[in-house]
Amino acid sequence: MTEKLSPRAILDKLVSFPTVSHDTNLPLIEWVQAYLAGHGITARQHPHETDPAKAALFAHVGPDIEGAVVLSGHTDVVPVAGQPWSTDPFTVVEKDGKLFGRGTCDMKGFDALAIWALVEGHYAGLSRPLQLALSYDEEIGCTGAAPLIVSMNKYLPKGSAVIVGEPSMMGAVTGHKGGTGFKVHVRGFEVHSSLMHTGVNAIMYGAKLIDWANEMNIENRANDPTAIAATFEPPWTTVHVGTIEGGTAHNITALDCHFGLDFRFVPGESRADWVARAKAKAADIEAEMQAVVPETYIDMQEFFSVPPLTPEEDGAAESLVRRLTGDNASRVVSYGTEGGHFQEAGYSTVICGPGDIAQAHQPDEFLTVAQFDAGHDFMQKLLAACT
Ligand SMILES: [Zn+2]
Repeated sequence: MTEKLSPRAILDKLVSFPTVSHDTNLPLIEWVQAYLAGHGITARQHPHETDPAKAALFAHVGPDIEGAVVLSGHTDVVPVAGQPWSTDPFTVVEKDGKLFGRGTCDMKGFDALAIWALVEGHYAGLSRPLQLALSYDEEIGCTGAAPLIVSMNKYLPKGSAVIVGEPSMMGAVTGHKGGTGFKVHVRGFEVHSSLMHTGVNAIMYGAKLIDWANEMNIENRANDPTAIAATFEPPWTTVHVGTIEGGTAHNITALDCHFGLDFRFVPGESRADWVARAKAKAADIEAEMQAVVPETYIDMQEFFSVPPLTPEEDGAAESLVRRLTGDNASRVVSYGTEGGHFQEAGYSTVICGPGDIAQAHQPDEFLTVAQFDAGHDFMQKLLAACT
């Protein structure tokens, strides 16, 4: 049997793997798999569809029945390049009651606690099973969760309550907006700008779609929010353009214009409706362009999509977390998580994890020892509740 590690020793190990989203996470996944195997727990890898350097991992302990509590975390972290770190980001350094290191807060602290709880649960003779779900590619659009969930449903008895351990100061978070983002490419037609009526300026037609985004923001803001929307800040769906480039010279109609178009939509509104409205607007603009030069076009590629987390009525996951933490405040957050994917797949889902989101993604990211201890305490109560 492998020696049992403390949550802190597991955290030190997890942080030592530089699992920046664009790099491999396999050494971390293989270490977790071997550590669990050393305790007689079978964990299964779900390989990335296209990138052989990445895998997700899931495991089940306790009786072989449905109804597990699923502990869900991502293994990837955001880059450290260009950030002024005072310590080595891939070594946990404890100072002034804080654990410094990339991912300590977002969210290897929770991952370490979840792995610890799984091993404890394995030996405890649980009556309610526990599951671990570790994903990849969360930080680049939450794209790893959906395939992981499909794989879990194939191999494991279905869980009934998912706790996504994103930093929430161990409070229950029951909702977040959904998000979807497009890379838009407007292909125009170049002529000398003195004859611009015979060309198609990709920038100027692209601006029409961007101005549609402005109109939508004004319209959405003017509408009365629904009860769910009213809990968010701002309480309406937003459409945002964060990057743009295009054109080559002031006197040539632009051949190309590229920009990003992102939606953050409130729960209750349909992602599909918003996408359809944007595409219909783009099609109208494209028709205008093609009336001048037929080979011009607007191409929209979706590059991320995160379903919203909708507050549940009498949610099983929420009531479990409230029972264990004693926290009764209602909270929603503005960032997206894998929780939306779990809920969409039919799981009752809540967000609850140690640390403050304000520390995530920062240079000198940290998790306070007090929050890590609060997370440990939570896991001990969870184990007791499942025994
Ligand atoms: Zn995160």
